[in-house]
Order: sequence, then structure tokens, then C-alpha cells
Amino acid sequence: MAKKTIRDLEVTGKTALVRVDFNVPMKNGEITDDNRIRQALPTINALIEKNAKVVLFSHLGRVKTEEDKAGKSLKPVAEALSEQLVRPVKFVGYTRGIELETAITSMKAGDVLMFENTRFEDIDGKKESKNDPELGKYWASLGDVFVNDAFGTAHRAHASNVGIATHMDEVAAGLLVEKEIKFIGGAVSNPERPFYAILGGAKVSDKIGVISNLLDIADKVLIGGGMSYTFLKAQGYEIGKSLVEDDKLDLAKSLMEKGKDKLVFAEDFKLAKEFKNDTPIRIADRDDIQKDEEGLDIGPKSLELFQNLIKEAKTVVWNGPVGVFEFENFAQGTLGILEALASQKDTTTILGGGDSAAAAISLGYEDKITHISTGGGASLEYLEGKELPGIKIIDEIN
Ligand code: ADP
Ligand code: MG
Repeated sequence: MAKKTIRDLEVTGKTALVRVDFNVPMKNGEITDDNRIRQALPTINALIEKNAKVVLFSHLGRVKTEEDKAGKSLKPVAEALSEQLVRPVKFVGYTRGIELETAITSMKAGDVLMFENTRFEDIDGKKESKNDPELGKYWASLGDVFVNDAFGTAHRAHASNVGIATHMDEVAAGLLVEKEIKFIGGAVSNPERPFYAILGGAKVSDKIGVISNLLDIADKVLIGGGMSYTFLKAQGYEIGKSLVEDDKLDLAKSLMEKGKDKLVFAEDFKLAKEFKNDTPIRIADRDDIQKDEEGLDIGPKSLELFQNLIKEAKTVVWNGPVGVFEFENFAQGTLGILEALASQKDTTTILGGGDSAAAAISLGYEDKITHISTGGGASLEYLEGKELPGIKIIDEIN
């Protein structure tokens, strides 16, 4: 599916309205992970080079009341971006009004401006999140072309992506959205085989759609993490105190029926009697979990099995840590998979999911994975095979 991208735009002297995903994690006013800012740089730099006037906007967190605004201003993000671009970024602390309009009309080619958190518009009637037509139309009136580079929000139809696009004549995808479509879209539509998926994380219920869709597409689906135990219990195994969703046992059974031998489960586990890092660990096969134990990571046999399968694959999509990687003593499974992915030079390795991506980056594997998605929810919906409204609208306008 060829998308119109900023490569196809003639923007010299034009005002490019660019929806980016600067929904970065913050703690006490400090940005704790600037991945999303770094991933937006190629598009911003390309537009500057093409002599556009670049107007950036994004949401940050959820804002429902006036009080929620505290700590949700995009000002610190504009400052961080300015450092990364090594050029000034003018920040306008409003989402509409004369001050914003004047600031935009006085821009010169190559200037960069960013305005305030789009969700500040949610306080009065959820205008942003409910895609209020007046708001999308107003934002559209501020520029000449619209670029959507916010993959992380592409699964939502908000005023700042779908609404604004509806009122523009010229709309294109940014380079990050293009990259996400190439890798995640490529894996689900036309993967180089063997194509294996590794699914973990906390709950089966979060990933039903992903497991089901990938069972149709992938050659194997490897299951680890907290969701393993619901599948084990559905097979009649004792799982002790491990994470389980009892209301999903039938669903697990039907997924196993659908998947048959495509599904690969962990064979052994690292077990503990308490949910904490410093606690005695026992490694046991899946048929030997005791009533007072819980599984907090895959065991060494399973890791070897998973690593050997990764070696055969030409495409691997991974979503969800295979253990409680936040505890150092239960991070080996997740680390071992990252290690195996990192050493596959000819394999396309794709990581989706908020916690999985954060784990890979914080453990130092950012440059060793082909593509780490910037979208948590968006990457999951994309892997489920759903159309993302923020991406679909680009084709509809063109
Ligand atoms: P993602 O954000 O990548 O989609 P999830 O949100 O589904 O991943 O799951 C991440 C969480 O799953 C992590 O916080 C991790 O601690 C937890 N987890 C993984 N394995 C287990 C387990 N065996 N028991 C409990 N929690 C687990
Ligand atoms: Mg998560």
C-alpha cells in the first residue's frame, strides 16, 4: 500500500501542520524517556530542509479537568526538542486564539513552532478526544498541509489527526508513520518466512486479538510471560499462585484449537513463593508447579527452545516481556530473547508494545533491533489486523 508521504509534498514557504506523538513519560517535570522525540526528528528535519514552516502539536497524558493540566504542558518537550534539533523551537502555550495565530503568521520558512497539549481542549467537552468538528476545522485553518507522524495515536480518531485531516486538501504521512507501516504493516501483510511471533506480557485478555490474528499469519506463535499460565491451566496443569484469568480459560482452549502445533509454550519456569526480586527461586518443568509457587519468568530450557526458533526465523514480531523483567532475578528470559534477536543479522526483528519497547531500550538493545515501535496500543491494534483511523484518513484525502 503506497502512502503519500512528506517526500511527495512540495512545501516551500508553506505552513506544515504536523501531528507528532510527544506523549513522553515524565516525572517531576523531567522527561524520563525521549524515544518519541528522537523518532520524530527525521520528519521535522526533512520539512525544515524543504523550507516549510513547521507547526508541531501533540497530546500529553490525559486531561479531564483544569487541575489535570499541572505537569501536562508541552513546554519542557519543546525545550528538549530544541536541544535535539539544535535550533529554536517557539513554544506557544495555547491551543487556539489570536496569540497562536499571530505566532504562526509571523513564521519564516524553516522556523519551528509548537503549541500546547491538544488534550487541554478536552476539559470543555472532550473536543480533542471526541473529534469535535469545529476544532479539527479550526486547526486545519492554521496551515496549508497536514502531516501525520503520530503513530502512537493512529488507532484513535481525534481532532488532531482525523479531524484536522478531514479539512485539509493535502495530507501526508511523516517518516515515522511510514516506517511503522513498513515494518509492522509489512509483517502482518507480507512477511519474509519463517515468520515467528513471540507473545508475552501480563494478560491474555489484552492480547486476544493479536494472538488470534497472528495465528492466521505467523508460522509459529511462542507464548511466554504472565499469559502462559492461563493456557497451562486450560490444559489441566497446576499453576499455583501464578497470574491467571479464570474467565479466559475457554478462550485459551479455543485459541489452542485454532493454533494447534503453531503454538509453542514454555516448558519450564522460574518459580517463587513471593512476588519480589529477593526471594528463593526454584526452576521446574511445567508439570511440576506447586500450589504455593508462582511463575515469574520462563526457565532455561524454554529460553533455549525460544532462542533456537529465533535462529530459524526471517521475521520475528515480539510483544510482551516473557517474565517480570522489572525484577533483575526474573529478567533473564526477556534479556535472553533480546540477545537472540540482536544476534540475528539477517532477520527482520520488530518489537511492539509499550513495556516491551521500554524494556529493550532500557536494557541497551535499541540499535540492535530492526524496528522498535513507538506505539503501544497502536502497534497492538495494527498487529490485530485492524485499520488505524489516523493512517486510513491519509489515503481517503488523497
Ligand atoms: P506490553 O506493554 O509490551 O504490551 P504488557 O503490558 O502486556 O506488555 O505486559 C508487561 C508486564 O507483564 C510487565 O510489567 C511484566 O512484569 C508483566 N509480566 C510478565 N511476565 C509475568 C509473570 N510471569 N507474572 C506476572 N507478570 C508478568
Ligand atoms: Mg503494557
